[in-house]
Amino acid sequence: MSETVVMKFGGSSVADADRIKAAAKRIVAKREKGDRVVAVLSARGDTTDELLNMAAEVSGTPDPREMDMLLSTGERISCALCAMAISDLGHDAISLTGSQAGIVTDTSHTRARILDVRADRIEEALDAGQIVLVAGFQGVSTNKDVTTLGRGGSDTTAVAVAAALGASVCEIYTDVAGVFSADPRIVPDAKKLGTVSFEEMLEMASSGAKVLQLRSVEYARTHGVRIHCRSSFDEGAGTIVVTEEETVEHPLITAVTHSTEEARVTLIGVPDSPGVAGAVFGALAEAGVNVDMIIQNEPPEEGKAADMSFTVATEDLRDARTALEGIIEAQGIQSIAWDEKMGKVSVVGAGMRSHPGVAATVFRVLGDLGINIEMISTSPIKISCVVSADRVADAVRGLHGAFELGDADADSGAQSPHGAAR
Ligand code: ADP
Ligand code: ASP
Ligand code: MG
Repeated sequence: MSETVVMKFGGSSVADADRIKAAAKRIVAKREKGDRVVAVLSARGDTTDELLNMAAEVSGTPDPREMDMLLSTGERISCALCAMAISDLGHDAISLTGSQAGIVTDTSHTRARILDVRADRIEEALDAGQIVLVAGFQGVSTNKDVTTLGRGGSDTTAVAVAAALGASVCEIYTDVAGVFSADPRIVPDAKKLGTVSFEEMLEMASSGAKVLQLRSVEYARTHGVRIHCRSSFDEGAGTIVVTEEETVEHPLITAVTHSTEEARVTLIGVPDSPGVAGAVFGALAEAGVNVDMIIQNEPPEEGKAADMSFTVATEDLRDARTALEGIIEAQGIQSIAWDEKMGKVSVVGAGMRSHPGVAATVFRVLGDLGINIEMISTSPIKISCVVSADRVADAVRGLHGAFELGDADADSGAQSPHGAAR
């Protein structure tokens, strides 16, 4: 029996007509090998950013439901165009919106989670010999509204569809050759990883390596989906995300990751009494805001107010502030301050679990570079430091060099529709 394969093409891989035609050729080649093929596409190039800007032009506080109606159009455009290109290559293709593809989500607009994939329509089309194009990043909520899955969400669509179809592999085609030891746009000698464990990939994705959306990695691990992350510009093998049992080596450090989209929120004058932290983080959770690092200072004297700081993604700052403004008075908190220009650099490696001294090296390297560490957090296989956003690139290069992660003949295959590194 023929195998089912899911191929996902990211925004830069479908950015213009030539790239859509190239993706169509690649999809058709897979079909001609005899596989049943579903392709999940992202919006073209910067379309999602442009749609976000369009919303900002007409409203300071766009309604999240309408935002999803708007944002979901980007991936529909890609799918319809690619179906046309495939048809010109002599194959039968059908494009489906997330809703038509049976992607059912919860009701959290702009950051919905997939609850179920009712793939019968995809299955019927595959049984009829069609190539199926699914619009990524979107679904339909249990309230029958269009939802989107958060930035980078097409990865999760692809993995969820692969899980529902029992696909043999979910191929994530992107603008770099796989998952690297650091972002190849910042570290030119970054090394492509042949394999990476789920455990490490989860830490990498959660600390800024946007090559795979965090949720897609979680979903793949839970549902046993094979992810192969590879270049859409050449045929070379990329990176396979493997289970812990399949992992042979545990290098001390696998990768250095970063993010420049962190905001720090400080609550000034937080009463030293039980229940306040619960109210603060409860309000943030209700607003769907993910909190990363949290620091609570000791009060100067017992019973006196202290400060509390935490980080959130910059894109969540507005929601975080709104949620907090609603509770500070009742909780007796003095005021809120924030800094939008924070960044984070992290080192990830399963080997650090059994190896002391990694944190000391990280702090020494940053110190030698004159980079001030504002906040620190650790997991058994990750050390993260919040630093000023404008020093993040230096920090990444310094740590990558210090842990000798480089590859002398590295070639990321990195290409961007705009040429320049982002
Ligand atoms: P797509 O549009 O295909 O979904 P993304 O822009 O979401 O692509 O993700 C690919 C980008 O992720 C790369 O262009 C690269 O700059 C960035 N990236 C960050 N960290 C890493 C890493 N460790 N390995 C590979 N790419 C990374
Ligand atoms: N188009 C969406 C974004 O830019 C989803 C994706 O590309 O995965 O975030
Ligand atoms: Mg992406």
